[in-house]
Amino acid sequence: MAYDFDLFVIGAGSGGVRAARFAAGFGAKVAVAESRYLGGTCVNVGCVPKKLLVYGAHVADELEQAAGFGWTLEEGHFDWGTLIANKNREIERLNGIYRNLLVNSGVTLLQGHARITGANEVEVEGQCYSAANILIATGGWPQVPDIPGKELAITSNEAFYLKDLPRRVLVVGGGYIAVEFAGIFQGLGADTSLLYRGDLFLRGFDGSVRTHLKEELEKRGLNLEFNADIQRIDKLDDGSLKATLKDGRELVADCVFYATGRRPMLDNLGLENTGVELDERGYIRVDQQYQTTAPSILAIGDVIGRVQLTPVALAEGMAVARRLFKPEQYRPVDYQNIPTAVFSQPPIGTVGLTEEQALAAGHKVQIFESRFRAMKLTLTDIQEKTLMKLVVDADTDKVLGCHMVGPDAGEIVQGLGIALKAGATKQQFDETIGVHPTAAEEFVTMRTVTR
Ligand code: FAD
Ligand code: NDP
Repeated sequence: MAYDFDLFVIGAGSGGVRAARFAAGFGAKVAVAESRYLGGTCVNVGCVPKKLLVYGAHVADELEQAAGFGWTLEEGHFDWGTLIANKNREIERLNGIYRNLLVNSGVTLLQGHARITGANEVEVEGQCYSAANILIATGGWPQVPDIPGKELAITSNEAFYLKDLPRRVLVVGGGYIAVEFAGIFQGLGADTSLLYRGDLFLRGFDGSVRTHLKEELEKRGLNLEFNADIQRIDKLDDGSLKATLKDGRELVADCVFYATGRRPMLDNLGLENTGVELDERGYIRVDQQYQTTAPSILAIGDVIGRVQLTPVALAEGMAVARRLFKPEQYRPVDYQNIPTAVFSQPPIGTVGLTEEQALAAGHKVQIFESRFRAMKLTLTDIQEKTLMKLVVDADTDKVLGCHMVGPDAGEIVQGLGIALKAGATKQQFDETIGVHPTAAEEFVTMRTVTR
């Protein structure tokens, strides 16, 4: 049977665009439907605008440090409206780049909500299209617990478009987004509290990293409330919001920001017309090659709920394009040793196993840990400490994990990711010549076993 397209991609986000462009480059006839914004979450309400706001907040650090280097600055003034307008302009520029990337690679771009109507059929804005393969790359959406007053709260989607910087913010959650936005709001001058339901935030990260970041955030004056869970939110007469916690405490703020995880975006996708099954967590179930339980339908990215990071969605998109249209170049995505950063202030960079994971996996571990005040701060009064940590297999000498909290951690850990992928040993780290004077050289000069 002749189909309209070889591949019909639903969602022009990180994974969808990558799969579509490469499939078209391999000679396939490809369509992409996008209902909201080109570039998806990452470009519009994720990585990119978030990083721009983090840069904006970081300027406060530079201003604080300036005096130590002899600079006298007049009283600074921050204007949220300017930052948001400039950010919006940059996002629009990126939207245009994504459009050109798709169109120039020969992909048919369809604007509108796509709904699957059969194993090989998709409907967009009343028009039906047939395709040999359908790729679901619809990403995720913020999830807010069902409490009274939840409609008074915002999520990351809205935070990027707030008209004014709130004076007092409650950030709820203890994952990437909560920690990053707490740093943004606080850095830009809002009186910020971070509320997390457990004992210590960033579950799943290395224990030393979690404790170190907690201490550094407290030094910066961020109000951390652990074992804190909001029971209800009410609007007060003066327009501010009152959050009542399960322990009875009441906190008042101008903005309650929820970052309590994301759900797969399956709204009105038409899965009931297909044999696509969901896993126990509600994400689309796929096999090793991203095929769903319906043979002509594949899925990648956040909607499959594996590792919700843009570079992972890109790698999955590439794998699907190759598998379908260039099988001789197909390589499975390697989910081991994925480097990642949390753009908190200070940021976290991490790759490989945490100490806890290494022990749980049965490794006999040697821990090398260093805490130091970065050289840049020595002419200032700032007492922030950087943490660097290596988790090493005591039997094989292989470096199992590298973890850092400190300036440029994300930049530094990218290179270490290559070392871990190559299977580097601690001896090879030791034999690597440092770059002096940098903070990063500490990763190749730690000689004494801490534990
Ligand atoms: P998405 O990028 O979400 O794209 C899905 C697209 O599908 C969207 O454009 C959506 O409009 C469209 N769509 C959905 N349903 C339909 C439909 N039925 N019809 C047509 N179109 C549809 N990751 C990092 O690696 N680094 C970071 O610093 C980082 N920061 C983040 C910060 C925030 C605040 C958030 C929310 C996420 C962040 N992420 C980050 C995660 C990253 O954005 C996602 O992992 C990534 O965007 C997933 O890509 P995707 O292709 O699966 O989906
Ligand atoms: P995460 O899954 O990272 O964190 C969710 C947080 O919310 C956890 O601390 C969780 O607590 C808490 N939580 C969940 N449900 C509730 C509830 N009902 N009440 C109170 N707290 C709750 O999600 P995020 O929303 O922060 O981010 C989504 C994903 O996006 C990330 O996992 C990451 O993959 C990606 N991302 C990546 C970034 C980067 O690369 N820098 C930046 C931002 C996002 P508990 O731990 O107890 O379950």
